[in-house]
Amino acid sequence: MSGAMWRSERAVVRFLQRRIISVRNYSNAGDNHFDIIIAGGGMVGTSLATALGKNSRLSSKRILLLEGAKEFSWTLQEGKYSNRVVALNPNTRNFFSSLGVWNAIEDGRYGTVRKMQVWDGLSNAMITFSHDNLIDPVAYIVENDLILDAVNREAKTLNNVKILNEAKIKGYKLKGHESNVNSVVMDNGNNYTCNLLLGCDGANSQVRKAMDVQNMSWNYDQMGVVATLHLSEANDNIVAWQRFLPKGPIALLPLADNLSSLVWSTSPDEAKHLLGLPNDQFVDAVNGALWKVHTTAGFVDEVTKAFDGFMQSLIGRSNAVRQLPPHVASLEDGSRAAFPLGFGHAINYVKDGVALVGDAAHRVHPLAGQGVNLGFGDAACLSRLLGESVYNGKTLGDLDDLKHYECERQRHNVPTMLAVDGLQKLYNTEFTPVVLLRSVGLQFTNALDPLKKLIMQQSAA
Ligand SMILES: Cc1cc2nc3c(=O)[nH]c(=O)nc-3n(C[C@H](O)[C@H](O)[C@H](O)COP(=O)(O)OP(=O)(O)OC[C@H]3O[C@@H](n4cnc5c(N)ncnc54)[C@H](O)[C@@H]3O)c2cc1C
Repeated sequence: MSGAMWRSERAVVRFLQRRIISVRNYSNAGDNHFDIIIAGGGMVGTSLATALGKNSRLSSKRILLLEGAKEFSWTLQEGKYSNRVVALNPNTRNFFSSLGVWNAIEDGRYGTVRKMQVWDGLSNAMITFSHDNLIDPVAYIVENDLILDAVNREAKTLNNVKILNEAKIKGYKLKGHESNVNSVVMDNGNNYTCNLLLGCDGANSQVRKAMDVQNMSWNYDQMGVVATLHLSEANDNIVAWQRFLPKGPIALLPLADNLSSLVWSTSPDEAKHLLGLPNDQFVDAVNGALWKVHTTAGFVDEVTKAFDGFMQSLIGRSNAVRQLPPHVASLEDGSRAAFPLGFGHAINYVKDGVALVGDAAHRVHPLAGQGVNLGFGDAACLSRLLGESVYNGKTLGDLDDLKHYECERQRHNVPTMLAVDGLQKLYNTEFTPVVLLRSVGLQFTNALDPLKKLIMQQSAA
């Protein structure tokens, strides 16, 4: 027998063995046993269910998605936007396209960011991000509800994915000495078992607690105030604006020509005050936060101007072509809300037969719009690696295989999270030497296109 024939016969035998193993697992399974259980059907959990359900290498696996909330139902209302939005990066768009979900978002609506302008409230320093052609999007601003609606609809079309709503999980008994499967105990007394449990249950993850992994976490003593704002002029609204103020950054994200979404991170006291203001005074406060000139140390201004002049002579162009932010005309009634902001990172994302995904594994400040993008990146990575693992005849949930997931994602997530946390701390002070250092650093970065491209690549991945 030739080597090639021998290899192809062995491949056929391995394929048949895999099919037999998976059919045996399937037929042995009771109704309450699943290959994979996903705890938490938020944006990340539902996307992960869709990715796993569509992965041809996992087609024989039974997947159960458990979500505590009622069945999600949402209809796009013309002109009426939700106040919860996220900035999706191009990589997330590619992930959604691969799931067949991006079309639904495109058929719905989203704002396109073609340029970002970030500036310091206490100095002249600023930085802009865009692609050279000013056409390719830097990010997409999409309502959370639209994302959840699109992935939910897609997940419901999959025969191998079962979705249970109003399915509140009470606790877990993870696999170990007593059992070789994970048990999920429901509030209503039901019990499900699985070979692989995926914790997508958000920042206060119960799965993470059951895994007993160390979670580094702290609160920023800041709230994120969100709202939908009407702008004075219906111009091409393609710029995302962010100004760093002493109490936290204020950002305007484009939704439509004359509509933007506000994410204003500030102290809990100021957040409470802002939520209680009459609409017109709230609008004045937003305009003041975007426009008001703060007293800066004259020394900082002089140094940053001199530094700008120096960079101009060095690179032959001005470093600081600052655009003026839009003027806010009014507030969409009832669109104000506030959310606590914090940092969290699980030292381990996996244990034998268990993995954490999305905010359950990591939580970041929204100032760089990275949080859910990291979660979607986890989902894409885990689906790919589980498919490969099953294709290679491994047991689903094998710890060595899950370690590959942890390693790949932590290599991406940790530097991004540290950078975001570092920025939060760097801009959370009025201490003049720090203001001076960060201002010069920002101008320097703005002048170096290769460095800016690197930052854009990291945040798009
Ligand atoms: C103000 C603000 C602005 C933000 N802006 C951005 C942005 O621009 N870009 C970005 O990438 N990210 C942003 N984020 C972060 C983003 O919102 C989160 O990363 C994302 O929502 C996390 O999704 P998730 O599915 O992992 O978790 P969650 O949304 O928390 O979902 C967890 C799900 O698990 C379910 N669940 C929990 N416990 C149980 C249980 N016991 N039984 C059953 N079900 C359970 C919950 O009901 C929920 O549906 C922002 C966050 C904030 C606060």
